Amino acid sequence: MQAEILDFVKRRNPNEPEFIQAAEEVILSVLPVLEKHPEFRKLKILERMLEPERLISFRVTWLDDKGEVQLNRGYRVQMNSAIGPYKGGLRFHPSVTPSVLKFLAFEQIFKNALTGIPMGGGKGGSDFDPKGKSENEIMKFCQAFMSELTRHLGHRLDVPAGDIGVGGREVGYMFGAYKKIKNEFTGVFTGKGIGWGGSLIRTEATGYGLIYFAENMLHTKNESIKGKTCLVSGSGNVAQYAIEKIIQLGGKPVSASDSDGFVYDAEGITLAKLEFIKDLKNNRRGRIKEYAEKYKGVVYTPIDAKAASNPLWNIKADCAFPCATQNEVNGNDAKNLVKNGVKLVGEGANMPVTIEGINVLIDNGIMYSPGKASNAGGVATSGLEMTQNYMGSNWTREEVDAKLQGIMKNIHDTCLAAANEYGKPGNYMVGANIAGFLKVANAMKAQGVI
Ligand code: NDP
Repeated sequence: MQAEILDFVKRRNPNEPEFIQAAEEVILSVLPVLEKHPEFRKLKILERMLEPERLISFRVTWLDDKGEVQLNRGYRVQMNSAIGPYKGGLRFHPSVTPSVLKFLAFEQIFKNALTGIPMGGGKGGSDFDPKGKSENEIMKFCQAFMSELTRHLGHRLDVPAGDIGVGGREVGYMFGAYKKIKNEFTGVFTGKGIGWGGSLIRTEATGYGLIYFAENMLHTKNESIKGKTCLVSGSGNVAQYAIEKIIQLGGKPVSASDSDGFVYDAEGITLAKLEFIKDLKNNRRGRIKEYAEKYKGVVYTPIDAKAASNPLWNIKADCAFPCATQNEVNGNDAKNLVKNGVKLVGEGANMPVTIEGINVLIDNGIMYSPGKASNAGGVATSGLEMTQNYMGSNWTREEVDAKLQGIMKNIHDTCLAAANEYGKPGNYMVGANIAGFLKVANAMKAQGVI
């Protein structure tokens, strides 16, 4: 059955390696569910989940500061709306392709189901590269992008948010463009600014949620983050707040990276040093190398994307949190982590560990959490932002943080229970895939063949 469904996906999606990779992981995990529930097989539930309900591709034309015409591609993948409106971020990065967005939208179905908040799965973005663009160019691009995307969005239809290359600034410009075109103020984006519909803690939620999830995992072994040395990759939104929460819980984060290289700070990144990273990345839009130039004893290593392994994952640590991008930890990296005695690998990014890497970790008994479970705090808090928008009120920081902690514990326990029930105790990947699948599959079954 596995080969049959995988063949079906490969045939229908040639040249889409990222999407096939994400599909393969889920197909393998949910086979026991399909065996137990022949009705899902008969209704082709999994095959239908693997086909976007709608894939929108459009031209984005804009004028740069020199008055020259620039051309990009925009996309929105509306993957599955069985349990709620499409929900998922927008990514602006030159590596964006339909394959990347379909993998992200597919993962989003399961992630959103796990949060317990009624949200379907979607994802979108553009091959636009925000690096090196002026403020004016960023705004012009966002407005041009929204001149098409607006017609496909709605606060009960499809609600995007940020992702790589899309932070508060870009969400602001896109929300403004939407409001102007539609002449209405609704919660059509999440990740909005505080004071115009945004939720407290949304900015921090993915990174904080990741570490809350890891804390839950460690508690099952009577351990905690306190005193643990932690590797973190990335230096954007997810990495920054993962580092912050590790420090707050008494752990020691020792690394950060960007697409050029990584810094290793054996003394540990402190809250003061983290402020430097936030200013560097969020305001000055500089490179992580500057961290090593500012602080003594810090080692900077350039990353060679084509190398067989990434030396960042060869540093001795108790926990590793990849928070940059997909496929940043391969089989060799996973072997190095195991060799150095890592106890836990928690995915902050989406699909940062390759299938080979996951197998190495699981075969060696390392606690491993897939992004669709451990980075779900971001979209969960987006769900809380939507609820506050519907209600027309705002919750306090403490209220949102308490809800986030509750949701992460709930996802953790749900994954463990599903893994247990299907004979894979402690396997968070199988548990996340099965629990997410069951929720969406039951809704699809109830709603008929549509
Ligand atoms: P940001 O754009 O804020 O930061 C991304 C970071 O990753 C930057 O440090 C960036 O370096 C680095 N990076 C990006 N592409 C590459 C690459 N090809 N190779 C190496 N490094 C790279 O994005 P986020 O922090 O928001 O997102 C990071 C990951 O987390 C993504 O996988 C995203 O899908 C996932 N995620 C994000 C959520 C959110 O709420 N923001 C929610 C759930 C998941 P550089 O500065 O050089 O670009």
